[in-house]
Amino acid sequence: MSLFSAVEMAPRDPILGLNEAFNADTRSHKVNLGVGVYFTEEGRIPLLRAVAEAEKARIEAHAPRGYLPIEGIAAYDSAVQKLLFGADSALLAEGRVVTTQAVGGTGALKTGADFLKRLLPNAVVAISDPSWENHRALFESAGFPVQNYRYYDAATNGVNRAGLLEDLQNLPARSVVVLHACCHNPTGVDLSLDDWKAVLEVLREREHVPFLDIAYQGFGEGIDQDAFAVRLFAESGLPFFVSSSFSKSFSLYGERVGALSIVTASKEEAGRVLSQAKRVIRTNYSNPPTHGATVVANVLNSPELRTLWEEELGEMRQRIRDMRLAMVEQLAAQGAKRDFSFVARQRGMFSYSGLTAEQVERLKNEFAIYAVGTGRICVAALNRSNLDAVTKAIVQVL
Ligand code: PMP
Repeated sequence: MSLFSAVEMAPRDPILGLNEAFNADTRSHKVNLGVGVYFTEEGRIPLLRAVAEAEKARIEAHAPRGYLPIEGIAAYDSAVQKLLFGADSALLAEGRVVTTQAVGGTGALKTGADFLKRLLPNAVVAISDPSWENHRALFESAGFPVQNYRYYDAATNGVNRAGLLEDLQNLPARSVVVLHACCHNPTGVDLSLDDWKAVLEVLREREHVPFLDIAYQGFGEGIDQDAFAVRLFAESGLPFFVSSSFSKSFSLYGERVGALSIVTASKEEAGRVLSQAKRVIRTNYSNPPTHGATVVANVLNSPELRTLWEEELGEMRQRIRDMRLAMVEQLAAQGAKRDFSFVARQRGMFSYSGLTAEQVERLKNEFAIYAVGTGRICVAALNRSNLDAVTKAIVQVL
């Protein structure tokens, strides 16, 4: 008998499975709206000019590739902090924020989860219903029971505020609450400023530990606007965690550039927390990779490259917003029997379109248009060349 004879086949990742089916499809007019990646108007993943310039400088510098410190590049970690908390943040001045470079946003979540498991071994973790599909698996694999809190309201295509607050209230005290800071994946439906304040009060009252996940900073309203929740929580005096990612905002998906930030009560506490976060990292992958974080740090810390990056990020944000509006207009013009105006109010790369699993299946079979079975579409994969075909097909399957 082989060592592996009893190993069962793990279920396929639903979204990666969709990509495989898309790649195997021979219809030339096929469109993939299932992915979680920003594409240009020409349908390509961009290499940002700011990134290309920083990479060129780095290659020319012929820098040696020694090990990084366990917590990563200091200039990177501090640039991340300023982006999240604001350059004039009092917390940063007081030395209360611990930031460690991470292997993407996923790595930041995992380091945070492992650290929390040691700190609060019996805690429950709560995630939104629905949420990024890896949240549940990631916290479960760190050993936590994971529950949903109500979030999306299909009837209004908005937030179920009363359900959300009630569920947060009813969690065991000191639960870990994962919140999407902006550009909610998969729905595109974000909390209003007022919702955030109400959520914060429940978290404070119940002594829950907020874990803000910000994977799309700059894709919603703007760099600072999208950090609203982080800054609100920073003012609250509560301890909290932030996982952040440059996969999307720098179009550096494969370089795995993210960070974990932990807000503590004092500089002295920050020192102890950092020492424990480093222990988690050391036993997982020892220390982080050099390339992506060097590039990001050089862009963020160079006035010219920073300006260029902000422009390029603004172009990506604007293109998505234009596609949302164009989609709403075209659906109406083509006689859709439903009001899709909510799509223009959503933020970030994704939209919960309201399409059923059956309608999504028909889009694939009859029109070679691929979306996630939940009705999630990636608005950032729409462009002027495929929009007409997509909206016509949606009208057909409604
Ligand atoms: N959090 C959310 C909400 C995400 O959507 C994603 C990725 N799509 C991540 C975390 C992980 O980001 P990364 O690819 O940088 O690991």
